[in-house]
Amino acid sequence: MKIRALFLALLLPLLVHAGDKILLKAARLLDGHGGVPLAPAMVLIDGDRIADVGSNLKAPEGAKVIDLGGATLLPGLIDLHTHLCGKYGVHWEDELIKTTPAFSALWGAHNARVTLLAGFTTVRDMGTAWPYVDVELRNAINGGAVPGPRMMVAGAYVSSTGGAGDAAQFSEYVQVPSVDNLADSPEEVVKQVRKNFKHGADFIKLLATGAVLSKGQAPGAQQFSDEEIRAAVTEANRWGRQVAVHAHGIGGIKTSIRAGVRTIDHGSYLDDEAIEMLKATNRKTFYVPTLYTSTVIARQGRAAGIPESEIMRSRMISDIKDLGFKRALAAGLPIGFGTDSAVIPHGENAQEFLERARLGESPMAGIVSATSLNAEIMGWADRIGAVEPGKFADLIAVVANPLDDMKALLNVGFVMKGGVVFKNELPRQ
Ligand SMILES: [Zn+2]
Repeated sequence: MKIRALFLALLLPLLVHAGDKILLKAARLLDGHGGVPLAPAMVLIDGDRIADVGSNLKAPEGAKVIDLGGATLLPGLIDLHTHLCGKYGVHWEDELIKTTPAFSALWGAHNARVTLLAGFTTVRDMGTAWPYVDVELRNAINGGAVPGPRMMVAGAYVSSTGGAGDAAQFSEYVQVPSVDNLADSPEEVVKQVRKNFKHGADFIKLLATGAVLSKGQAPGAQQFSDEEIRAAVTEANRWGRQVAVHAHGIGGIKTSIRAGVRTIDHGSYLDDEAIEMLKATNRKTFYVPTLYTSTVIARQGRAAGIPESEIMRSRMISDIKDLGFKRALAAGLPIGFGTDSAVIPHGENAQEFLERARLGESPMAGIVSATSLNAEIMGWADRIGAVEPGKFADLIAVVANPLDDMKALLNVGFVMKGGVVFKNELPRQ
């Protein structure tokens, strides 16, 4: 079955070329905006774009008809926080001394395909151990060399010396390539921002606080000054790009909101004041929690090579994260959808829906988060995140209705990206 899936995944894009007209039929469609499901659903695709959506469309002459029977169609899902490059289970600091950028790239290509086939047609990738491998992966996907999601990439994430993105397990006498991403003043931050854009990054990832999965300071500690974070935002905005911060601690969260970053990723120690601050930004700054990570680290952290001290940290932070999410939900805050995949196995991204549902999020809110809201956060609402004419034909289908059972999203049976079918394995009904 695995082999067959692989074979189909490689073969199908050859069978259905972008440029063809396709009429997709299914029992219902969730449009990504949270509207009443359209039933029955038909979507006409012309080349890489959606041409029409309705219940009663006629197939134009020469169009290929794909009937998905009782399935539910949705927009391709979007994950705002992935690390596709490298191999699951290899700690990022080990990767720097035991592997090469080629290792990172080849496993990255593998992970990109796994992620796409799981229904995630777009990701915002938050950085790699080997800087700029993500830029090359994005380019290879866009060039048609390997199947994968649309990628918005961070290049080399920016960290302070001794901060969460500084490889801290090495002695002063070991030259580690990633230390080239360090900045210790507003001027140095600006330099790193410009260097990233020069080398092909689409946005900036800043490590504003300590991390769960790195040695040294606790996740709560702020690691960039207010001025340094503001410098990153000012410079990135000058390029028309956004800044995403890795922030667990409340100090780093609030400073980053004040500085005008686009997203607060993880946001573990989110409190009521921070939620009010986020609301007051009027959809300028968003919270992107990553909840499933705690479940995975608790279950298989040791087997995945994560040090005991970091597993302990994850356990400590888990309940706090859940509480922050519940508060944000109760306050009606728009919540972005991210997973930190690489901390979780690639392809298990949809498990995040179940974590959020467990904490009280409705299925529709979860789906809107991972589609139209995420597209808005990325600044890509003009091209993805909803099933409507003019958007890229990024569509997925699942057997059941995810509004009745979110587990349906764990088994995406049909994946189309840009009008190209990458997977069509829905069971016949
Ligand atoms: Zn991350």
